[in-house]
Amino acid sequence: SEEMLHRQDKLAAVGQLAAGVAHEIRNPLTSMKGYTEFLQLDETDENKQEYLEIIMDEINRVNEIVEEFLQLAKPQALNLEMKNLVPIIQNVVSLTEFEARKKNITLISDCNDEEIFVRCDENRLKQVILNFIKNGMEAMPDGGFIKVMTEIKGDKVQISITDTGIGIPPEQLKRLGEPFFTTKKSGNGLGLMISFKIIESHFGNVFVESEVNKGTVFNIVLPI
Ligand code: ADP
Ligand code: MG
Repeated sequence: SEEMLHRQDKLAAVGQLAAGVAHEIRNPLTSMKGYTEFLQLDETDENKQEYLEIIMDEINRVNEIVEEFLQLAKPQALNLEMKNLVPIIQNVVSLTEFEARKKNITLISDCNDEEIFVRCDENRLKQVILNFIKNGMEAMPDGGFIKVMTEIKGDKVQISITDTGIGIPPEQLKRLGEPFFTTKKSGNGLGLMISFKIIESHFGNVFVESEVNKGTVFNIVLPI
């Protein structure tokens, strides 16, 4: 039955997640073990500081993975309230402006309307927009442009986050939102999965348009 299928889907997803977590955590653990052994063997103080720094980085990595998982595991009890989207977007943009400038990225927010009221959990929505902007910045190692804009379409609002980055090839586009799908050396591949879930629980949806070497647009559509 459809119900059963749903349940099996969920079980499969849980298995996939558990395998992913184990994999993600095993790598830093192996590296911490190795460097701890070096420290035990090494009688000199020569490499001590370097090894300790590596171990500390790995501890932070494990911590991040666990934190993200706790967020996912939390019951998605959203605190939905009528909020004006415009200052929410402006707030996220101003939070990321400094980082953008450092990376030679011009960040533009372009909201034509002064007020767009949506029922949302402000902090969760900020988290999603922040994730998309961060991904955009990470897709532009040599700088570029990110534009955040809103457009009202009937009884919906579309928030678009456009970058001029490396783009996403079609075969990877299909995999976006899959747990642990990442193409980055230090990525964890959880940001999109979490973001898509948050938008789903707002009765909205996300669609992505991308062209390799041109850039990417993440569109969030929410009911108003
Ligand atoms: P992470 O950022 O840790 O890799 P995400 O879930 O945020 O994890 O993103 C998953 C993958 O989707 C990224 O590794 C990247 O390959 C791709 N991606 C997401 N956003 C963009 C973007 N704006 N431009 C190019 N690729 C992107
Ligand atoms: Mg990311």
